[in-house]
Amino acid sequence: AYEDPSKPPWLKVRPPGDHDAQAEYQRLRKSLRGLKLSTVCEEARCPNIGECWGGGTATIMLMGDACTRGCRFCNIKTSRAPPPLDEHEPDNVAIAVAKWGLKYIVLTSVDRDDIPDGGASHIARTVQGLKQRQPDLLVETLSPDFSGHQAAVDQVVTSGLDVFAHNVETVQRLQPVVRDRRAGYAQSLNVLERAKTICPDVVTKTSIMLGVGESDAEVRQTMQDCLDVGVEVITLGQYLRPSKRHLKVEQWVTPEEFDAWKVEGENMGFSYVASGPLVRSSYRAGEFFLESLIR
Ligand code: SF4
Ligand code: SF4
Repeated sequence: AYEDPSKPPWLKVRPPGDHDAQAEYQRLRKSLRGLKLSTVCEEARCPNIGECWGGGTATIMLMGDACTRGCRFCNIKTSRAPPPLDEHEPDNVAIAVAKWGLKYIVLTSVDRDDIPDGGASHIARTVQGLKQRQPDLLVETLSPDFSGHQAAVDQVVTSGLDVFAHNVETVQRLQPVVRDRRAGYAQSLNVLERAKTICPDVVTKTSIMLGVGESDAEVRQTMQDCLDVGVEVITLGQYLRPSKRHLKVEQWVTPEEFDAWKVEGENMGFSYVASGPLVRSSYRAGEFFLESLIR
C-alpha cells in the first residue's frame, strides 16, 4: 500500500503469531506451491497472512482480476469489458483448495456487471465443488451485490456455503464518495436481508472501513441498520489508501477506539465483532466463525 507519511505507529508493526500458528503458516505456504492457486492474501501482501493462514483461513479471488466497477478505495483494476469467465475455474479452484489443507476458505470476486447473472452461478458452482471434495471445509463467500438481483443472491446463498458476507463498506452518507455509483447502502442491506431470509442457517456478515470521514453516530447507525436486517458478524478496520490516486484517509482510528467498537457491537447484539486497525473482512474468519458458533 501507499506509504502515507502521517501513518501512525500502530499500523507499521504486526505482532508475530504464536508458535503453532507459524508452523501452520509454513505448512500451508509449502503445500500451496505447485497448486496454481493465487490467493488475495499473497497478492495484496496482506499483513495478516501469518495470523490468518496460521489459523487455517485464506482468501481466493474468482472471476478474474478486472472489475467492472471502480470504487474509490479499491486497488483492483477496472475494465468495462473484462475477459469472459474461465469456465474451468470453479473445478480447478475446488480441486486445488481441497488439496491445500485449509479449514476455512473465503471466496471473493470482482463485480461483473457485464455478465447477466453477475457471476452468481460461477460462485455457486465453486462452493458446490469445494463442499463435494472437502465436506468439512467451511466456506464463506464475500459476494458482490449482483445489482440487487434477488435470484442471483439466492443462487449463491443456497449453494451450500456456511457464511454469506457482503460489505456495506461505509456509512450511508459516504456511499457515493467511497463506492462505485452502481453500489449503494439500501441495495447492500437488501442483499444481506435477502440472504438471511432465504437461508436463516447461513451466517451473514458485513464490514465497514473506518477513516473515510464518518462520524461515530453514523457508524453506530450503520451497525444498527445491519443488525436490523439480520447481520450477525461485523468487522471494522482502518481504511488505508492504496495509492495517491485513491480516496484520502480522513482519520486514523486508534486501537483503543477499535476496541471500544468491538465492545459496543457485541452489546448491540452482534454474535461476533472483529475490530482493529488492520482487520479486514476476512481477517481470521475461520477462528471467528468457530468462536461465534460456540457462543
Ligand atoms: Fe488473507 Fe483476508 Fe487474512 Fe488478509 S485478512 S491474510 S486477505 S484471509
Ligand atoms: Fe473493488 Fe469490489 Fe468496488 Fe470492484 S466492486 S472496485 S472489486 S471494491
